[in-house]
Amino acid sequence: MVLGELGSRISGAIQRLNTATVIDDKALTICVNEITHALLQADVQFKLVQALSSNVRKSVEKLAAGHDKRHIIQKAVFHELRAMLDAGKPSFTPTKGRTNVVMLVGLQGCGKTTTCTKYALHYRKKGFNPALVCADTFRAGAFDQLKQNATKVKIPFYGSYTETDPVVIAQEGVRKFADAKHDLIILDTSGRHKQENALFEEMRQLAAATNPDLIIFVMDSSIGQAANDQALAFRESAKVGAVIITKIDGHAKGGGALSAVAATKSPIIFLGTGEKADAFETFESKAFVSRLLGMGDIAGFANKIKEVVPSELQPELVQKLADGNISFKFLCDQIENITSMGSLSQLMSMIPGFNNINVQSFDIQQFRKYRVILDSMTNEERNSSSLSESRILRLAKGSGTSVDNVQQMVNHVKTMSKQMKGLKLNKKGDLGKGKSM
Ligand code: GDP
Repeated sequence: MVLGELGSRISGAIQRLNTATVIDDKALTICVNEITHALLQADVQFKLVQALSSNVRKSVEKLAAGHDKRHIIQKAVFHELRAMLDAGKPSFTPTKGRTNVVMLVGLQGCGKTTTCTKYALHYRKKGFNPALVCADTFRAGAFDQLKQNATKVKIPFYGSYTETDPVVIAQEGVRKFADAKHDLIILDTSGRHKQENALFEEMRQLAAATNPDLIIFVMDSSIGQAANDQALAFRESAKVGAVIITKIDGHAKGGGALSAVAATKSPIIFLGTGEKADAFETFESKAFVSRLLGMGDIAGFANKIKEVVPSELQPELVQKLADGNISFKFLCDQIENITSMGSLSQLMSMIPGFNNINVQSFDIQQFRKYRVILDSMTNEERNSSSLSESRILRLAKGSGTSVDNVQQMVNHVKTMSKQMKGLKLNKKGDLGKGKSM
């Protein structure tokens, strides 16, 4: 989970309320202070943190006696974080059956070229036929880099070693790929010029020449809350419709960048979470906060599983999920499914309860333990969703793992079944929003 430390500090502060005997003003102050410190350390703007802290306090203070204060506090923190990260308006998303042109802009080194390939791959998985155009003639080696990235993942590309006008390359590239019926054409642009004005002027010329459906501003998260000014500057110079924040894996300031961009009301659509082509996460504020607080994103998880399950088995799977029909075998099979998709930690954090034990540490080794425990089970146990104490002891011994390991597996099946039962099937057969805060 990106921003794992921030998440575990906030959820830890909330969980400590559960051990407090009474939720009085002192306990509330300690909790709110801990959350405030965690957010400030992640470089979230002081004024946003102040608003969150005062709103959480207000939501508890106005309560009459007898309410479950713990739940109200958790709910208020969830809502405030979500409001902090919500840009409010949806962005353009490519649609099939037409030529979608998407242009990426941003400063040199922010991860733009890498993101072009990640974006193309994301949509290829959704059935699009993407192509890349390198319209950066300023940086030597820009075309080679795009070419190398694109070749690795077998995505067609276009660029030139001799043409010096990026507008000419962009127009030719778009024309060529539109003629070849590519439905998603992604333009990589320059991120540096001798003068800033020249960079913005080039951006405007490229936009005028190619008429993109979406201009995405790509930004490095390490600049923290300074992201606010950068996002505004790009938005003033071009019709930026969405933002992708990169390198969120390596910087403690990620929370600051995220909230600062959201404050400009520019929709954040993806996060770059590593150098590899699949280190890319869709961003949706509700699911993100839910995962940040260890509450999972069960609808996202269920729909991810669907991506790897053959279509003929999907109706049965979806029904099972919707019924909350989760057995030990089912849990292991699905973890196996998602490991085949890579990026285990990203997917695991969608399962409720995983952030609390730190998703990063739930590695393939731990999953192997689940498998060994499953192998030691009788058929009847495998297809059940709970175990008696004596069976837990027997399985720990028989599998050579520990009682804690078996108990952890039992807890996961229990939490998942509970959350799944709250999900509703929508008309398309997707698992929609479940019980929420
Ligand atoms: P550009 O100049 O904006 O096109 O940036 P590049 O795509 O060349 O990326 C600059 C550096 O950042 C490269 O070393 C990339 O591998 C790295 N990079 C890009 N995105 C990410 C990310 O999400 N996480 C990490 N850790 N590195 C990234």
